[in-house]
Amino acid sequence: MKIGTTHLFVPGPTTVPEVVRRAMNVAMEDHRAPDFPDFVLDLLADTKRVFRLREGRVLLYPGSGTGAWEAAISNCLDRGDRVLMARHGHFSHLWVDMAHRLGLDVVCHDVEWGEGVPVEAYERALRADPSIRAVFVTHNETATGVTSDVAAVRRAMDAAGSDALLLVDGVSSIASLDFRQDDWGVDVAVAGSQKGFMLPAGLAILGVSEKALAAAEASSTERCYFAFRDMIAANEVGYFPYTPPLPLLHGLRASLDRLLDEGMDDVAARHHRLGEGVRQGVKAWGLELGALSPRWYSDTVTAVRLPAGIDGAAVCRTAYHRYRTSFGGGLGKVAGRVFRIGHLGDVNEVSCLTALAAAEMALLDVGVDVEPGAGVAAAQAYYRQALADEEATA
Ligand code: PLP
Repeated sequence: MKIGTTHLFVPGPTTVPEVVRRAMNVAMEDHRAPDFPDFVLDLLADTKRVFRLREGRVLLYPGSGTGAWEAAISNCLDRGDRVLMARHGHFSHLWVDMAHRLGLDVVCHDVEWGEGVPVEAYERALRADPSIRAVFVTHNETATGVTSDVAAVRRAMDAAGSDALLLVDGVSSIASLDFRQDDWGVDVAVAGSQKGFMLPAGLAILGVSEKALAAAEASSTERCYFAFRDMIAANEVGYFPYTPPLPLLHGLRASLDRLLDEGMDDVAARHHRLGEGVRQGVKAWGLELGALSPRWYSDTVTAVRLPAGIDGAAVCRTAYHRYRTSFGGGLGKVAGRVFRIGHLGDVNEVSCLTALAAAEMALLDVGVDVEPGAGVAAAQAYYRQALADEEATA
C-alpha cells in the first residue's frame, strides 16, 4: 500500500488547497434564489481584481481554457478576419489550429520552441498590413516554460498605429505571474480554473475589455453557448444564463480570498522566487532549460531539456511510479526530449524542494549523470538567501 501524498508538479491541474476544497463541499442550492446575486456580483468583481481589469467584464463559463479560446474568437471576430499569431510551443500551436478551424485568416509566425512571441516581427507585420484585426499572444507557453512580454506587444501595436484587438492566453499565467489587463491594453484575456486559481478544471474565465465587448456586438459569427451577450444579460442581475457549476464558484470564492489576501504583487513575487530556485536547481544538475534565454524564463513552469538518449517519458514514469510524483512530459515537437516541473498555485519553497528531490532521484534512476543532492542544495541556498533578503528589507 502506498502511504502519504501523491505530489502534483504538473503545470496544471495544480494542487487544490484544503480551504478551497472545503469551500466546494456545499449542499446544492438554487442558482435562481433571490439572494444568489449577492454572491455572484462580488465574485465577478473580485475576479476582475485578479485580472487587474477595472473597466470591462469578467465572464465565467463552464469549460476549460480551450473553451475560453473559442469564446474569445467566436465572440470578437468574424470568419475571414486576418489575425496575427505566433507558434512557439504546443499550446500556441493548438490556438493557431483553432483559429484556422474557426475560419480566421491566420498570419502565423513560427518561432523556435524555447523562444517567445517575436515582438519586432509583430510590429513589422502590423505596419505592413493594417487589415490585421487581432493580435494573439500566448503569455506563458506551458509546453516550453516560456513567458512572453505582453506589454511589449501592446507597445509594438501602438507604435505601428494598429487598432487591432489584443487577445492573450493567460491560462498558465493569470493568478500567478504579473498580469495587468488594463495597463497592457489586453482586450480579451483567457484563463482556466485549474492553474493559478488552484481549482479543479471546469471554469473558463475571461477578462473582456470594453473595446472587445463592442467588437462582440458587431461580430456576426455564430455562437450560442459562449455568447457574451447572453452571459452579460444574466450577470448584470447576478445570475447565469444556464446552470453554473456551483461548487466551482464557491471554490473560486475561497481561491480569490487567498489570492487577494496575499496580494497580486506578492503572488507574482512568490512565483518568481520559487521559479528562480527551481532554475538554480536545474542549472546545478548541469541540464539546460527549455527557455532559450533568461528573457523567456517562466516563473510558473520549468521545462528541462534532457541529454541525448534519455527519454523524458521515462523520467516522468519513474517519478510517478517510484516516488509518487507527477511531472509534465514533453508535448508536441519536444515530446520525449524534455520534462516539465510545474511550480504554480499553492506552492512554496519546501514544495519546490520536494519537486527537485523527486526529479533528481528519477533522473539518476534513468541514467542521467547528475550529482546527487546538487539541485536541491542549489535551490535551498537560493531560497534561504532570498527569504533572508526579503526579511531584511521588510
Ligand atoms: N493554453 C495554455 C497556455 C495551456 O497551458 C493550456 C492547458 O494546459 C491550455 C491553453 C488549454 O487549457 P485547457 O486544458 O484547460 O483546455
